[in-house]
Amino acid sequence: MNNLYVYCEIEDGVVADVSLELLTKGRSLATTLGCQLEAVAIGHHLNGIGTQVFPYGVDALHLFDDARLYPYTSLPHTAILVKLFEDEKPQIALMGATSIGRDLGPRVSSALGSGLTADCTSLEIGDHEDKKWGKIGETGEIGKTHKNLLYQIRPAFGGNIIATIINPDCRPQMATVREGVMKKEMLDANRKGKTIRHEVKNYVNDTDFVVSIIDRQMEKSKTNIKGASIIVAGGYGVGSKENFRLLYDLASVIGAEVGGSRAAVDAGFIEHERQIGQTGVTVRPKLYIACGISGQIQHISGMQESSLIISINNDPNAPVNAIADYIITGTIEDVLPKMITSYKRNKK
Ligand code: FAD
Repeated sequence: MNNLYVYCEIEDGVVADVSLELLTKGRSLATTLGCQLEAVAIGHHLNGIGTQVFPYGVDALHLFDDARLYPYTSLPHTAILVKLFEDEKPQIALMGATSIGRDLGPRVSSALGSGLTADCTSLEIGDHEDKKWGKIGETGEIGKTHKNLLYQIRPAFGGNIIATIINPDCRPQMATVREGVMKKEMLDANRKGKTIRHEVKNYVNDTDFVVSIIDRQMEKSKTNIKGASIIVAGGYGVGSKENFRLLYDLASVIGAEVGGSRAAVDAGFIEHERQIGQTGVTVRPKLYIACGISGQIQHISGMQESSLIISINNDPNAPVNAIADYIITGTIEDVLPKMITSYKRNKK
């Protein structure tokens, strides 16, 4: 009762990275709260799921195994989570801000009347004191203190503020988080937990299966930007699709992936799946080379955890320079060819 639950997404028997990232975060939140971390797996052929999730610190794994539950469809997965949460009364429930999580999360929170904060960039535990304010100029009246709430932190108003959202009254406190935002870290490779196999028929009705998947077209991503250890990213300052060639040349010499800002994507310099930032991918490479990127908060939020940042910009006061470890003041057209020549020479 009152534990922390993570809904695990599964594709071909493999737990999605975003779910493992949430289990990592969930483990540390559960430890702070002194409660258990529980994982939920809904699908078919789920025997291998325990060995994947227990090393991340899961205390209990709930399995719902039925041929009709894979691939994902909205109604049965919603019905299962709603009943499970009604029975178990978790204090917190987390899921990925993926196409599945964005469909499932609101359905479950709406059925439970619990509310949900989408696309959180940080999750913490903290207290909150109600303040009942009088008229302007009067002293505030201090109210009740709520202990150990989930701080659901995310950019708001177009990224201009970082909002901390709390839900003192309804349970579970529900949040979704995008892939790559949280770090994935195993707790103990040999850790074992309890597996609870549920009788699926007690959770679903036949009417939950009105939709059946006839065929699926899966397209593998052409980039591995999330897993890249070096990223050369270009912004609007790169100037054109042709100039982006310089970034690809540099990337091929140093073994990097190429990414871009939203302004570069919108201008058609680079494809959308390479966009980094709040509405793109979140990355944390060892080296991030920002070329002609000004460094607005929506971009920074997707790359600020890079180990080392180099900024190349013709404006010495570009905001990105404030978080850069090294700053090269100059134009892309000038600096990149010199870097390419120099790396090529040093590689020999
Ligand atoms: P600019 O801000 O135009 O900066 C260009 C930079 O290049 C400047 O610093 C300039 O000095 C420099 N420059 C110009 N010419 C040269 C040259 N020849 N050589 C070197 N430097 C040069 N943005 C993202 O990136 N990712 C997101 O996911 C994202 N999501 C958003 C979500 C919302 C809800 C909103 C409102 C905005 C979002 N944005 C996002 C947009 C963001 O606010 C900025 O508009 C965008 O990041 C700016 O991109 P930029 O730095 O490439 O362009």
